Amino acid sequence: MARNESKSSEIADESCIFCLIAHNRDEETTVLKKDKELVCFKDIYPAAPHHYLVIPTEHIISCKSLKRGNIGLVERMANFGKQVLRDQGITDMEDVRLGFHQPPFTSVDHLHLHVLAPASKISTSMDYKFTPGTDRFITEEYLRKRLEKVRPNVCEMIGQFFELK
Ligand SMILES: [Zn+2]
Ligand SMILES: [Zn+2]
Repeated sequence: MARNESKSSEIADESCIFCLIAHNRDEETTVLKKDKELVCFKDIYPAAPHHYLVIPTEHIISCKSLKRGNIGLVERMANFGKQVLRDQGITDMEDVRLGFHQPPFTSVDHLHLHVLAPASKISTSMDYKFTPGTDRFITEEYLRKRLEKVRPNVCEMIGQFFELK
């Protein structure tokens, strides 16, 4: 079944490790949750007891490539990550940290949401990499708010017009 799945969708960038993971082409990585749009797996350098990455199957470079029309995607990525945390037994959803690295501080140029829990147990030596509101790292809420301020382009305006009707 996995074979058929990877056949039906083409890999945008064969040299991108996250594209390979998304298309079941990396044997080292254990995928925790997957649907048509998103994939979640463990970060190879965990900074907290639970540290996962949520990526879109589509090769999107970073949070800077996102447009206003991608707010729903960011929200779905966050919900997907929270669901994995619940599946792993996390109950305190206040003590979690969900966010994105901003270029040039991205390790892989394929959009990925970091999901860390408990946030209070993020390792002190790695905390600087996941401090919200820095040039390096922003929370998913912050990103959604920033995207809301982006002026919609003509296509999106037409889309919204039809949604209103
Ligand atoms: Zn990719
Ligand atoms: Zn990152």
